Amino acid sequence: MKKRFSLIDTALFLVMSLSFVSALTRSPQAAPGRHAARGVFNRPEIVEAEEEAEVVKSGFFRIPLPEGTEESSVKVTEDLFNKKILIEISGVDDAFFKNNAFSGDISGIADVKYGYYGGVSTVELDTETVSVYESEFTENSFYLRVSNIHDVYEKVIAVDAGHCGDDTGSVVYGVEERNITSGVAGLLKDKLSSENYYVILTASAEENRSEEERAEIVNLCKADLLITLHTGADPDTRVTNGVEAGCSNGLRDLCKHVTRRISKACSEKDLGIKDIRYPGVTKYTRVPFILLKLGYITNRKEAENMNSPDYRERAAEAIKEAVTEWFDAEKNG
Ligand SMILES: [Zn+2]
Repeated sequence: MKKRFSLIDTALFLVMSLSFVSALTRSPQAAPGRHAARGVFNRPEIVEAEEEAEVVKSGFFRIPLPEGTEESSVKVTEDLFNKKILIEISGVDDAFFKNNAFSGDISGIADVKYGYYGGVSTVELDTETVSVYESEFTENSFYLRVSNIHDVYEKVIAVDAGHCGDDTGSVVYGVEERNITSGVAGLLKDKLSSENYYVILTASAEENRSEEERAEIVNLCKADLLITLHTGADPDTRVTNGVEAGCSNGLRDLCKHVTRRISKACSEKDLGIKDIRYPGVTKYTRVPFILLKLGYITNRKEAENMNSPDYRERAAEAIKEAVTEWFDAEKNG
């Protein structure tokens, strides 16, 4: 099965190749032989597919593979934080890429490099925006199409656990805020993803990522909504309890809806919207947000409650329901 590159495709590709080359010359990383974590990176030759060349899948970027490469030897990793897609190909050395040009559609791709280290070739794609990819493997090609997340998903939601790494947040009665919020964040990510939203967790519990770094990915993704999770703390340990929240302008209805839902699902007092005294990651973000205080960790009963897997499941489900209903209502006017 051979497909000829149509004239329009060819013209389009030429235009894109030219802008690609100029992008390369502008790039401060354009110096060849840059030493990177995986060894020395080189730039491949990227050509317009010739008339009778290998099958070119329209709209896809083609990485050539030696005849007989197994699909299992190609591994793709997305690095959202650095806007990179890494394609690791084991058993193929860099001499192959020196002699075989890459081809196809480079839209959405800002830079391409390859390197060879420890028996594995890595092709590194810098994407123009935070992107997702589709891929297809054939016996001598790996095809990849890169798309902006907003073109593929209706909504992009960032979920932030409020505290991560060495920052445990409040620790009261042996209960850690970080463990509560990251537990709920992980569940929430899975639940919202299954509703077909694109969900970004700003950090895992173990990662040491500052508020500025976490905010950077939220801004980079231009998230439609940021949900950042905390617990409340108050010296009045016996009395003060309940779920409360703060939000950016325009999200008061969503905010009230979320606290009401959590309050019901977790049998907590609904404190509704309160002034935000600890803005956390929202100090640095430029997207709509809700900041949730899931409960008061200084209240022993509530701390123990929030520390249970059952509570986390109920809270995550309640947030997912509220957010989904709100986005659905928005969609249906
Ligand atoms: Zn906190």
